[in-house]
Amino acid sequence: MVSTPVLPLEAASPAHICPFDQACSYLEAAAKELKLDRGIVEILSHPRKVVTVSIPVKLDNGEIRVFAGHRVQHSDILGPYKGGTRYHPAVTLREVSALAMLMTWKCALLGIPYGGGKGGIAIDPKRYSVGELERITRRYTSELIKDIGPAVDIPAPDMGTSAREMAWMMDTYSVNVGHAVPGVVTGKPLSVGGSLGREMATGRGTMIIVREALADQGKSLVGMQVVIQGFGNVGMAAAELLHQAGAKIIAVSTGAGGVFAKEGLDIPVLKAYAAANRRSVFGFPQAVPISNADLLTLPCDVLIPAALENQITEENADRIQAHMVAEAANGPVTLEANLSLEARGVTVLPDILANAGGVVVSYLEWVQGLSYLFWDEERVNREMEHLMVQAYRQVTQQSKLRQIPLRLAAYTLGVGRVAQALTDRGLYP
Ligand code: NAD
Repeated sequence: MVSTPVLPLEAASPAHICPFDQACSYLEAAAKELKLDRGIVEILSHPRKVVTVSIPVKLDNGEIRVFAGHRVQHSDILGPYKGGTRYHPAVTLREVSALAMLMTWKCALLGIPYGGGKGGIAIDPKRYSVGELERITRRYTSELIKDIGPAVDIPAPDMGTSAREMAWMMDTYSVNVGHAVPGVVTGKPLSVGGSLGREMATGRGTMIIVREALADQGKSLVGMQVVIQGFGNVGMAAAELLHQAGAKIIAVSTGAGGVFAKEGLDIPVLKAYAAANRRSVFGFPQAVPISNADLLTLPCDVLIPAALENQITEENADRIQAHMVAEAANGPVTLEANLSLEARGVTVLPDILANAGGVVVSYLEWVQGLSYLFWDEERVNREMEHLMVQAYRQVTQQSKLRQIPLRLAAYTLGVGRVAQALTDRGLYP
């Protein structure tokens, strides 16, 4: 095993599944398959830079609160660090570090010239006013001013953040350096250099990968029964596009619980309901309520976890009835659960492939910004689809060639490309 990297401030994850250990296990499995040099594996198992900042903010009631913000930069071997910014109460430095490592492999797998990074603040954004969130975001950005930039590290939205937070980050960075720098973040509003197609990109990417995987099994999306956990940026876009393609979305959930309709949910109506109900689907009148736990074990063709990590574990893996699981969230299936699903012949489409649509369009947004030339949505979607389908084919080819599951195939491609670049660049000094 590689040595455990030193992550300051936290001894270990409070949960029994440490996300960083899990990320290292995937690296280790890919390294073993590729017979990588141990020194290379040792380098890749440590984030290059770990930043934790204090964010003192005056709340609306006059009270001062100090939040902890993290930014982990795992690798910039292939290009600037790239990765989302998560606002969620469960954010820890270990989780952010695991997600940063995942981004490195994901960008390499998709063939885009980025390294991996991730950021986060352990807050429940629903408990703060818009003004408080703006002050938190701006202070977080200004604390990281020397560590981010269009050629250095480019944050994007993740769970709990959106185009609104990216605009605040872009503005704070720009004001501090003295001129507008749209390339410092992606996932921005269109008015400040965002890309058409970015909002739906991750869900669209998931739809494309599910469509390709079904096609390989001689099936189409039409009439497929789909269950989606999470109805935020990713889950909602995936639901909408799959619904449009003829799939039947039979259950969907948000943090407060889920809804189930055997004949399929009317996704545009459900979307309007969630918009009017603080983004919750709970209580949707045209369906019956279902708990998040029961939703995961519903019989269906495709299960799409699009909320949190560690949702399918040793405890519920043997009760999963889906024939295919597409990881739209990061790390929703644990290592052990993955083995159990694969042993039962369930197709698991790994996160670094199934949710890569977001970072692909982030890359296209960055390219458009750097070239001062903006494309129509059709071109953005076409370029994204090309990269997604290409990566899918490379993963399935690798899987067949080496006789390994799709996840390991995806990791061997991502890890292998970074390891090769590291070998070619050499070790400084
Ligand atoms: P979001 O905040 O927009 O939505 C999250 C959704 O999950 C919400 O509907 C929320 O109610 C639901 N949820 C929260 N806790 C839940 C629980 N315990 N059970 C069921 N549902 C729950 O976040 P998002 O941007 O859609 O991200 C979702 C996942 O996708 C995350 O793992 C994120 O890292 C990953 N991801 C996002 C992007 C992106 O472009 N936004 C890209 C790649 C991966």
